Amino acid sequence: MKVVVLGSGSAYGSPMAFNQWRGLSTDNPRNYRSRASVYFEVAGRKFIIDAGPEFRVQVNQVGLTDVDAVFLTHGHYDHIASVPELPRVSKMLGHPVEVWSSAETEQELKTCFGFLFNGGEPDGVGLRWKLLPDSGSFECCGVRFQTFQVPHHRLHCSALRCGDFAYVTDWENMPEEGVAALRGVKLLVIECNNGLVYEKNGHSNLENVKRVAELVRPERVVLTHLSTRVDYDDIKKHMPDYFEPAYDGMILDM
Ligand SMILES: [Zn+2]
Ligand SMILES: [Zn+2]
Repeated sequence: MKVVVLGSGSAYGSPMAFNQWRGLSTDNPRNYRSRASVYFEVAGRKFIIDAGPEFRVQVNQVGLTDVDAVFLTHGHYDHIASVPELPRVSKMLGHPVEVWSSAETEQELKTCFGFLFNGGEPDGVGLRWKLLPDSGSFECCGVRFQTFQVPHHRLHCSALRCGDFAYVTDWENMPEEGVAALRGVKLLVIECNNGLVYEKNGHSNLENVKRVAELVRPERVVLTHLSTRVDYDDIKKHMPDYFEPAYDGMILDM
């Protein structure tokens, strides 16, 4: 299995517009972060989780040439802004692309991009909208996945596990069900938006991630969706050995 972090940044990226770095060192290239997204390959199938504003740039930068399915974790723009590009992506690739989202997220998509749902594709290519269950296991492109939801602002965010790899973004609290679903996972890529700071803003911090890791016992924890509060070198000093901050283009072979 191959996993590539396409984007490791929070909703506004870093630096934010107009070169706003806030607490970040401008010296470390790993502090340049596009919006959170991940690519992974398993059994010859190619998957992407979330399609934020930099989707096109991200997939080009790491040299991707194909995708079978895209999972959308929730309806915030930093995770769905490029969804309107996906019908054209499917056309160019010459095959249908599955787009998976929960019922709640699909509602958000219809509010933002209603025009995408207005008609079929005459030539057999295009998007195949798929309902991501709120919990339990399901199959996509012949690969088995497990999913559960985490609370995030007024929404819920879908987390995914595929074999030894799990991806949890935009979460505030980890439900029991999530701990059970993640138990024994080897590679956990998880949102740590607030870094060392506690703030009730729908996101998580290092203390929360540590608590989950103690329960789940993964071999490797990679922190993603990092805001401009989270300097790469600074947060590294505060984490256990098996933790590391994500960066754009990070390759995680398993
Ligand atoms: Zn987000
Ligand atoms: Zn969000």
